[in-house]
Amino acid sequence: MPYDVLIVGGGPSGLAAALTLGRATKGVLLCDAGPRRNASATRIHNVVTRDGTPPDAFRRIAREQLAAYPRVEIRDTDVRSISGERGSFVAVLGDEVPVEARRVLLCTGMIDEMLPIDGFRERWGHAIYQCPFCHGWEVKGQRWGYLVSPGSASHFRAFALQLHGWTRDVVVFTDGRVDLSAEDREHLAAAGIQVHTSPVTGLRGEAPRLSAVELADGTKIACTVVFAHPPQRQVDLVRTLGVALDDQGYVRADPMSRESSISGVYAAGDLTTRMQAVTAASALGVQAAAMINVELTTELVLEGAL
Ligand SMILES: Cc1cc2nc3c(=O)[nH]c(=O)nc-3n(C[C@H](O)[C@H](O)[C@H](O)COP(=O)(O)OP(=O)(O)OC[C@H]3O[C@@H](n4cnc5c(N)ncnc54)[C@H](O)[C@@H]3O)c2cc1C
Repeated sequence: MPYDVLIVGGGPSGLAAALTLGRATKGVLLCDAGPRRNASATRIHNVVTRDGTPPDAFRRIAREQLAAYPRVEIRDTDVRSISGERGSFVAVLGDEVPVEARRVLLCTGMIDEMLPIDGFRERWGHAIYQCPFCHGWEVKGQRWGYLVSPGSASHFRAFALQLHGWTRDVVVFTDGRVDLSAEDREHLAAAGIQVHTSPVTGLRGEAPRLSAVELADGTKIACTVVFAHPPQRQVDLVRTLGVALDDQGYVRADPMSRESSISGVYAAGDLTTRMQAVTAASALGVQAAAMINVELTTELVLEGAL
């Protein structure tokens, strides 16, 4: 018998979807490859009732609670390929045993590409953050840098000004990526934000801590925290599957049903949006699961299988 739904990815979106479908008595296989987007973070913040929870604990509690639903199966393996069509997909897993499913829900997250700056990778998630709501409170009042990266140049001013709410000591590093307008300079100056336009060549201090940002001319600017938005890419499975992406590289999903450009394949979580947070991903997982459940139940009833 095929599974009703194959969920690919066991982060917040996949786990939330599995809970919704399990409670709806559907047969679910959730496969998770392991590495997750917030792997380097020690705590999750800004998640109501779970503020400060370690990411491993978040996943463990979710799995413990899913154990109450006997038709939800979890396997720690990657999904290597998916073929077939709506109603009869076949997935090859890491253990190479193919499984069948009526629907597929992609919850594979995004991969952050580390910036090619000396010292960036080892500080990501420790002294370099992407979201002030997630990690700003713990370091508020310190000197923060904001490193403008490819893709963030168009909205760098609004983001820099937003950081001013957490600390009056913000330094912007444009890394040679932005031509500052008169209005940029006026707004940043009004908030007392310093701007350095030279390329950034290194991040210094005893890793994973940060003490300074080094510029191409050798100048070191003291900073204990840096915010950055490195470019992101889809996992290989999503790229080879051929679902349509938007102009920023996120999977196009119907706003209501969460169905992708491939009939019967749905998507929820970070891979569909730049609005990336645990609760946002969970909400999309619940929405996708509920919408899949509606049409799957109809299908099963008409087949006489329910
Ligand atoms: C450093 C850092 C810190 C963060 N801190 C916070 C925070 O404090 N609060 C907050 O709200 N948000 C935070 N976020 C954002 C948050 O982690 C994400 O928005 C959230 O994890 C997205 O959930 P998701 O389920 O879409 O994807 P993910 O959590 O990335 O999960 C995707 C899963 O899919 C699996 N997968 C991928 N491909 C396959 C495959 N082919 N087969 C099987 N499995 C596969 C991956 O292994 C992974 O486990 C942080 C992000 C980063 C980078």
